[in-house]
Amino acid sequence: MIQIPKGCKDILPTQSHIWQYIEGVAKETARAYNFREIRTPVFEHTELFARGVGETTDVVTKEMYTFLDKGGRSVTLRPEGTAGVARAFAENGLQGGVLPFKAYYLYSNFRYERPQAGRLREFHQFGAELYGAAGPAADAETISLADLFLKKLGLSHIELKLNSIGCKQCRKKYNEALRAYFEPHIDEMCEDCRTRFAKNPMRILDCKREECKKFTAAAPRILDFLCGDCRAHFEEVKALLDRAKIAYTVDASVVRGLDYYSRTVFEFTTQAAGAQGTVLAGGRYDTLLEQMDVSPTPAVGFAAGIERLIMVMEAEGAPMPAREGVDCYLAGLDGPSRMQAYLLAEELRRQGLSCETDLLERSVKAQFKYADKIGAKYVATIGESELASGAAQVKNMRDSTSQCVEFGALAQYVKRGVKTW
Ligand code: ATP
Ligand code: MG
Repeated sequence: MIQIPKGCKDILPTQSHIWQYIEGVAKETARAYNFREIRTPVFEHTELFARGVGETTDVVTKEMYTFLDKGGRSVTLRPEGTAGVARAFAENGLQGGVLPFKAYYLYSNFRYERPQAGRLREFHQFGAELYGAAGPAADAETISLADLFLKKLGLSHIELKLNSIGCKQCRKKYNEALRAYFEPHIDEMCEDCRTRFAKNPMRILDCKREECKKFTAAAPRILDFLCGDCRAHFEEVKALLDRAKIAYTVDASVVRGLDYYSRTVFEFTTQAAGAQGTVLAGGRYDTLLEQMDVSPTPAVGFAAGIERLIMVMEAEGAPMPAREGVDCYLAGLDGPSRMQAYLLAEELRRQGLSCETDLLERSVKAQFKYADKIGAKYVATIGESELASGAAQVKNMRDSTSQCVEFGALAQYVKRGVKTW
């Protein structure tokens, strides 16, 4: 049998209600902040990610699903959401539209990674993007959205780590200091870090290897290199979060893995998900559009990994929705009753209820068993005498009481009943 590609997962009908629940909370939280949904293509020109995400990032150097299409163009499956949204924003002339522009997405992304718990090749994200606002209030609002989303999911042991990586000028000085600091150790560090050392030393701080981590702990801190403007921006973001009572810790090791960030960067992390503790991450990316040859527009955003969120929700025992059962199962005992059950099921469906009736010509006993398995709230049984009297025997499956209900009144009866379920 052909098997699912490595690093991918099926989301089966027995689990999809959890996904719908999380997506529902995401949409509801986005709405509270007036972020609207955006959908961009699953693939883009490779160049978009190479330039947008950054040539020295792990995503671009190692993780992209890139291929030539039949026309010989190099295209890449979306490894993250931000570059595509930036392209859509610019290409549709939205800089000239209503600002700030606020959009969210619920996407699957593709990265060629070594699969493990919380690290997949196809994974899903809830992301939010805010364009056109340079001030710290936009950073704070974006972080608040993320915080409220996680709180609504009942995740209380998640820590917000906050940092500022300054602007290009701050980083120029900082990178020099980092090079001076890492120089004596670089031969003991991993090959990737040696490349990072040459091209983008700050990225070394994001290395997950133990042999490199032992040197990064005592490295110079970017916060000591911020220029006056970047420092003031960071202070104001913190002040706004303080006022909104959003707890955070300043953590100079948060530098984020993608090149487009500037100033504010943040991660929501937890110990509950094992090694893959970052469930949501984001920051400001004021230079992204410029990097893509579009007139500069300030921007801030985040993305949360849904698979990781589910892992953490399970580990923390966060409330999970139960799979909702069908409103009514209609059991027919003989041929004519089955026909009546079929017609009534159709009627109930038209009235907005969910119901099922037998498709497998099962015995009555087997039909009841099935109704139980699908979590039917009511079971309406029709036999010879019910057919003659025009009323079904309706059993409330929660309290096991039964009542005789006329066929014409069944929809209303079930509707009223399920409201209080
Ligand atoms: P990591 O450091 O864990 O590799 P990242 O910096 O590559 O994460 P981002 O690109 O910022 O991650 O993506 C934001 C979020 O998306 C992550 O915090 C995580 O929850 C999720 N995520 C990223 N890559 C994967 C993956 N391969 N599988 C599952 N979730 C992922
Ligand atoms: Mg990664």
